[in-house]
Amino acid sequence: MRRFANQFARKKAIVQPKHNVYLDHSATTPVDPRVAEALSRSLTDNFGNPSSVHSFGQQARAAVDRARREVAALIGARQNEVIFVSGGTEANNLAIRGLCEAAQHQGRHIVTTTIEHPSVRGVCDALEKKGWEVTRVAVSENGIVNVENVRSALRQDTVLVSIMLANNEIGTIQPIAELAAAIREQRERSQRNLWLHTDAVQAAGRMVLNVDQLGCDLLSLSGHKLYAPKGIGALYVRRGVRILGQNIGGHQERERRAGTENVASIVAFGEASRIAREELESRVTYVRRLRDRFEEEVIRRIDDIVLNGDRERRLPHLSNISFRFIEGEGLLINLDMQGVAVSTGSACSSGTLEPSPVIRALGRDEEMARGSIRFSFGKDNTDEDVDYVVEVLQTVVARLRELSPLNKPTEPQRVGVALGKTSVVENTVIK
Ligand code: PLP
Repeated sequence: MRRFANQFARKKAIVQPKHNVYLDHSATTPVDPRVAEALSRSLTDNFGNPSSVHSFGQQARAAVDRARREVAALIGARQNEVIFVSGGTEANNLAIRGLCEAAQHQGRHIVTTTIEHPSVRGVCDALEKKGWEVTRVAVSENGIVNVENVRSALRQDTVLVSIMLANNEIGTIQPIAELAAAIREQRERSQRNLWLHTDAVQAAGRMVLNVDQLGCDLLSLSGHKLYAPKGIGALYVRRGVRILGQNIGGHQERERRAGTENVASIVAFGEASRIAREELESRVTYVRRLRDRFEEEVIRRIDDIVLNGDRERRLPHLSNISFRFIEGEGLLINLDMQGVAVSTGSACSSGTLEPSPVIRALGRDEEMARGSIRFSFGKDNTDEDVDYVVEVLQTVVARLRELSPLNKPTEPQRVGVALGKTSVVENTVIK
């Protein structure tokens, strides 16, 4: 399949795409010009070290604190509950390792799910190798974890539940507030040392976030998913929750994250958070409309596809679709030749394509997991982008299916599908 895809890609290599469309905003977002401006100004204006007592240092300190207030406001937290780190991966590492190390005398059991980002999954795997026990709760076929299943996974020695707020591949939104209520009950009944961490990297800037409404104790954020630069993020730690810093060598971030602050990126993250808060409603409405129109057109024009994830409980900007008889990577390469940037959850490991573990966790077969593509929209996409991508997608899918040895249907298998919020059957094959 890959060979066929590459042949097609090579043939097309000489043709310049008519249009370039970036539909990979879940991987990263372009830096907003207003954020770039704040970053650039800060590089020269706030060059002092925030730990220095002189005025240059204090100016940088004030800039960091202003940004901290903005990030805190985005999630409804208090300023001193926000720790700046290098991004989502570090936030997840610090949350899980930091909390588990601080709480190890109370218990050594963690509860998580089968669809977490590798930066959560990997830390849990590493702790398991050091003697911690990890329960990975499966999700239902629409990609949502059942609160009762998490509740029954809790034990007397559980110290941490780490469950993402929104999934990076399929965008499903997990019932964090309900999980927090279950955890609170358990805490009040018998287990004082039980905490809830949520990875909100994909959710920030795409849904309303409030740490009190969510009821979480720790929450991870990353700047580059909300139009700030890469390499900056934050961990929210509720007042009274103890974590052990993982860096040694400085007293920054109240001993919880040693290392001189990345002042300009922090300022940029603060500015991006302010804009995200102010523009949230209009951004959400806008990207949802584009995404829904895109899906309607794809469903109308292309047979043998499956929409992965829940149709309602998901982020507004994301659509994950499996195309039968096609390998996602081949489709991605061919779309790229036409100027369309998307991504696939499949990972290349030792020369073979590993199907996406998230799509596999939904119970999809290997072919569907390999054929899944994530389309993620952003504030700068347009209706023309949607028209162009649908057109290109239809052509490329038809072409790849013609070449595919997997494609042996006797006749097209299309069933009627009602669109919009009415009666699409979740996760059924849309033929
Ligand atoms: N968590 C989720 C859900 C993500 O999607 C990502 C990035 O894709 C991360 C964590 C890691 O964030 P960063 O790229 O800032 O390290």
